[in-house]
Amino acid sequence: MNQKLKKLGIDLPFLPVTSVGSFPKPRYLTKARADFNKQRINKELLYSFEQKATDEWLAYQQKAGIDVAVDGEMYRGDMVAFFAENMPGFDKGGLVRSYGNRFYYKPIIVGEVKWPGPMTADWWKYAQSKTDSPVKGMLTGPYTIMDWSFNEHYDDRETAALALADCIRDEVGALIEAGCKIIQIDEPAISVRTDELDAAIETMHRVIDGQEAYFITHICYGTFEKIYPKMLDIPVDNIDLELSNSNLNMLEMFKKHPFTKDITFGVVDSHSHKIEDVEMIKDRIKQALRYIPENQLWIDPDCGFKTRSIEESKDKLDNIMAAVRAFR
Ligand SMILES: [Zn+2]
Repeated sequence: MNQKLKKLGIDLPFLPVTSVGSFPKPRYLTKARADFNKQRINKELLYSFEQKATDEWLAYQQKAGIDVAVDGEMYRGDMVAFFAENMPGFDKGGLVRSYGNRFYYKPIIVGEVKWPGPMTADWWKYAQSKTDSPVKGMLTGPYTIMDWSFNEHYDDRETAALALADCIRDEVGALIEAGCKIIQIDEPAISVRTDELDAAIETMHRVIDGQEAYFITHICYGTFEKIYPKMLDIPVDNIDLELSNSNLNMLEMFKKHPFTKDITFGVVDSHSHKIEDVEMIKDRIKQALRYIPENQLWIDPDCGFKTRSIEESKDKLDNIMAAVRAFR
């Protein structure tokens, strides 16, 4: 097991299992958010529904035996908009289309971005109080926040990303201060803008250099072959990758250039209704073990589960746990 985790006092079993971050929201919460947006209910009532949904997901993860839990992001609409709404310097932009038929409000950077004080640390504390397993702190990375926003203030993309990195760095500090030891900084945009990998690496340095935690970054759905092995320079301890959606074809690259960090290995497709059976997941883990030293390997789904149903998410995670137990 990773020396840094040991030093932080975290002891995980063989093939630690986690989730990428988001879980589907129960219907009562979706309804409450809509009611809140129409000013039919107040913030306190919405908050109580967000807490209830968070409780339910933590209880499920504990019962299922997930080793490193997540809060499920019940209090977030969108992973970028959540931070943009909280940070001075942003305006809510117009609706744009992202993947598939999903529309979201693309934020606009209109002034100097600032850290407003803890944005996620209270939710982390709340989630951690509900379970015995370590809960990951979950942040959206500055490079992705920049890439998914319009910039009307900073001279160029890199300057904007570095300014955002200073804000996210403060949030990392707040999480560590609250007691968080494992922090994931999602950077899905990295694999899409492969020409800017150096800038993305520099922003990650700005966020985490000198901070005492075990850091993970989640990257997904892009052209990994263009950024590997260079992406191993991202200064985190663990890179969480979507691998099953692309039929594990990254593994061939690991043969040429060994994966030098811990890896959280996606073994089920997060964007498919199909529930992968235990045998298929065992086979994927077996293949992973051929290319990655066993003490570097963590297991999870490919990506967040917010587009799956609650039942599909649980079925996929239950099968992951059954497969991992067979190896243990
Ligand atoms: Zn993802």
